[in-house]
Amino acid sequence: MYISTRGKNDHFFAAEAIKTGIAGDGGLFVPTTIPKITTEWLVSLANLDYGKRAFAILSLFLPDYSEEELQFCIDAAYTTEKFDNAAIAPLVAINGDKFVLELWHGPTSAFKDMALQILPQLLSKALVKTKETAEIVILTATSGDTGKAALEGFKDVKQIKIIVFYPDAGVSPIQRMQMVTQAGSNVSVVAVRGNFDDTQTGVKNIFNDKNYNADLAAQGFQLSSANSINWGRLAPQIVYYFSAYADMVRDGHLELGQPVNFVVPTGNFGNILAGYYAKKMGLPIGKLICASNSNNVLTEFLHTGVYNRKRPFHKTASPSMDILISSNLERLLYYITDGDTVQVSSWMAELNEHGQYNVGEQYLAAIQEIFWADCVDDDETLQMVHAVYEEHHYLADPHTAVAWQVGERYRQNTGDDRVQIIVSTASPFKFNESVLSAIDSENFIAEKNEFAMLEQLSERSGWSIPPALAALENEPIRHEIVCNKEEMPTVIKQILEKNK
Ligand SMILES: *Cc1c(COP(=O)(O)O)cnc(C)c1O
Repeated sequence: MYISTRGKNDHFFAAEAIKTGIAGDGGLFVPTTIPKITTEWLVSLANLDYGKRAFAILSLFLPDYSEEELQFCIDAAYTTEKFDNAAIAPLVAINGDKFVLELWHGPTSAFKDMALQILPQLLSKALVKTKETAEIVILTATSGDTGKAALEGFKDVKQIKIIVFYPDAGVSPIQRMQMVTQAGSNVSVVAVRGNFDDTQTGVKNIFNDKNYNADLAAQGFQLSSANSINWGRLAPQIVYYFSAYADMVRDGHLELGQPVNFVVPTGNFGNILAGYYAKKMGLPIGKLICASNSNNVLTEFLHTGVYNRKRPFHKTASPSMDILISSNLERLLYYITDGDTVQVSSWMAELNEHGQYNVGEQYLAAIQEIFWADCVDDDETLQMVHAVYEEHHYLADPHTAVAWQVGERYRQNTGDDRVQIIVSTASPFKFNESVLSAIDSENFIAEKNEFAMLEQLSERSGWSIPPALAALENEPIRHEIVCNKEEMPTVIKQILEKNK
């Protein structure tokens, strides 16, 4: 069963937690108990493929889903039709003590696919299990990666529609193309005149407008979001930590039980938190190393115990980590306080009212037993892309390079030379301009045409362009609506009216 991080009285099935996303008191859903694994169980994963590993882990967290239901969800998500690598989340050896876990072989070339391929399936089953009759309308404001991954995941899923809003002036050319060419009978994509903040505020206002929501309900529609606090996004991310470890053992890189450190490029604290769950379940993880860009609110928190969101926002070369409020951190606070929901609620109220909270020395010490953190600016990031390419002929995207750099610093600062797994969250081709300029700044000339840059990067490195990105060039434009922020509610109604 699941409870809220802000109050323990109400218990929910996994299907309800996934359907509602956020608890009624504003808290996040957490499982009442965390399943513990044994060494034999861990060994048994080694010879399974990714889908079977996913089944083994997800069935522990979603006991109200039948075997058939869960199997159906997994089969629809992790296939070689959707992923361009049979391992789904392949582990690449750099040298004896450094490995890269590539989470970007899905349809949108970023790590969001690992969860957003399966969440729509889990949600669709949850609707049946909870006897929901309304048509669910997923509303998403995106600065780039999430929107496309959500579109791909939700396309043609029964009883669900998805409308994605993106800032007209705030996504990369490739990201825009990925979205406006999106196929699917239940998908809509709308450009909003303005920046990401305008777009996100527009969506938030719609969620908070009681009359508007009542109006939609009368027509049989229920608004929902697919954001990263949903348990249905978090649970599938636990799988690849186990999968990486199982690969290491299978290939003889690790003795069973030997701990590894994971380095995770972090924004909303969702990815790294899944690693924390894996560790709590008994996976031998030494340290979880939290890597940030210049938006270093988490680095400061993990160093001082003070979370302070009152700081300038930086646009960086690793835009998917440009975040000031890491929502999933609330789940860590719940565990660190041993489930003290009163304490967690009061910190969250302070964050809301004063923009900061301080967990104090004791809790900080407990957090630092498990986590280590540092941050990297854009210059250092691009230098790292260059250095990794020169030394290992590996193409790291800027997010991955941030992690790589922090991983090196961790070794230098602590002397801990345990095996490191760098979690790689985006294909280098998704950030082709940054990567091209970093690997050969002298000869780099920016091209107007994105596809020319994809080709250039591929020719230079010998790496092949992800098929879905290459195919974009010939896809027809399917979505052309542009609106002002104030028009968003009307646009939604028009879309729903048209697709009835
Ligand atoms: C979303 C994202 C991240 C950050 O992940 P969180 O779970 O929000 O910490 C890092 N890199 C890329 C490429 C992403 O898309």
